[in-house]
Amino acid sequence: MKSIKDLNITGKTVFIRCDFNVPKDEDGNITDDRRIRGALPTIRYCLDRDCKVILASHYERPEAGVYEDKYSLAPIVQRLQTLLKLATEITLANDVVGKNAKKKAAALQSGEVLVLENLRYEAGETQNDIILAKELASMVDIYINDAFGACHRAHASIDAMARLFDKEHKAAGFLLGKEVNFFEKTLEKPMRPFIAVVGGSKVGTKLEALNELINKVDKIIIGGGMAFTFLKAQGLEVGNSLVEDHLLNEAKKIMDKAKEEKVKFYLPVDVVIAPEFTDKCIAKYVPAQEIPKGWMGLDIGPASSRLFREVLNDAQTIIWNGPMGVYEMDKYAKGSTKMSHNIADTHATTIVGGGDTADVALRAGDVDEMTFVSTGGGASLNLIEGKKLPGIEALKA
Ligand code: AMP
Repeated sequence: MKSIKDLNITGKTVFIRCDFNVPKDEDGNITDDRRIRGALPTIRYCLDRDCKVILASHYERPEAGVYEDKYSLAPIVQRLQTLLKLATEITLANDVVGKNAKKKAAALQSGEVLVLENLRYEAGETQNDIILAKELASMVDIYINDAFGACHRAHASIDAMARLFDKEHKAAGFLLGKEVNFFEKTLEKPMRPFIAVVGGSKVGTKLEALNELINKVDKIIIGGGMAFTFLKAQGLEVGNSLVEDHLLNEAKKIMDKAKEEKVKFYLPVDVVIAPEFTDKCIAKYVPAQEIPKGWMGLDIGPASSRLFREVLNDAQTIIWNGPMGVYEMDKYAKGSTKMSHNIADTHATTIVGGGDTADVALRAGDVDEMTFVSTGGGASLNLIEGKKLPGIEALKA
């Protein structure tokens, strides 16, 4: 995979596929702009070389063809304008490859930036449509992918479009290069002990990653909703906690494999339980072996936090993906916050992957203490699983 530095881009029109899919609050304010900041080095590199820069990204999941304000990239453009501190105004096209975008692209001058509207307003984006890819490609000389968070999806702006350019005219941006390098290097030659901390709600989506991690790590810590599938697979009563019953066997196999590979496998020893999935009710701590019928586990308890802290003590490398509880509700956020502090406090190389997990680290004030916070959840999981990412394959083709 080439880096943007390997290409001759001076004075050219450059398309940069970014991942501006940032979280917003109910008032539409951007709550975490790390994905926008992450794209700045590549954008600045192009501007410094007198390029005409066209940026494109998807934002959430609008219905194709329906232009709604809440899915517009307008707030992103505003934030970009502030962060880039450009003398000229960044323009936003009203469409993706329509008349307005084409007209604005044709009028673009060196050192100027044009942002296309939300790529998913075009149905062809998620269908990896070659016609849309050709329309996008027709506006530019160079294709740059800097959207790590979207690289696990074979979409038109990620896959089909990249394949229309030869190797002298396509490359990875700085953010994509950094993300891929970090995961590959860490997974290839980790400093040991190497510990994986995995949480979140679904075992299903993380099964392959867990299977792969067992071959690589020295210890695994499981928390979050997915812990209950493992606890139930051990024969414990888990009440109404989140459980994927069809995966109980798989969970058992993973624990057996860990034993065979001599990987230490840690589950919560106590949990925060509540009778309902809400923070407007009583909650209490119980040992993981004493969850009453009718109650559900929504966070790990204080004894688990202390145990996991001990487990992490000698770590030299830590990969963390998934919160320890329903951290969106303050009442069940302590386990995740403490895990963030515990990881940040180690001397290990720490890699945080996944939007939710990065959000926990941010709320806990630990982002600066982590070695690397990835901008892509699904993409980083796929890299851990050893899967090939469509966006990266298309750059290499
Ligand atoms: P994932 O997308 O699989 O990483 O899951 C993240 C989600 O897991 C977050 O929205 C958490 O609220 C949720 N979660 C964590 N712990 C639990 C739990 N014990 N029960 C239900 N959901 C949980």
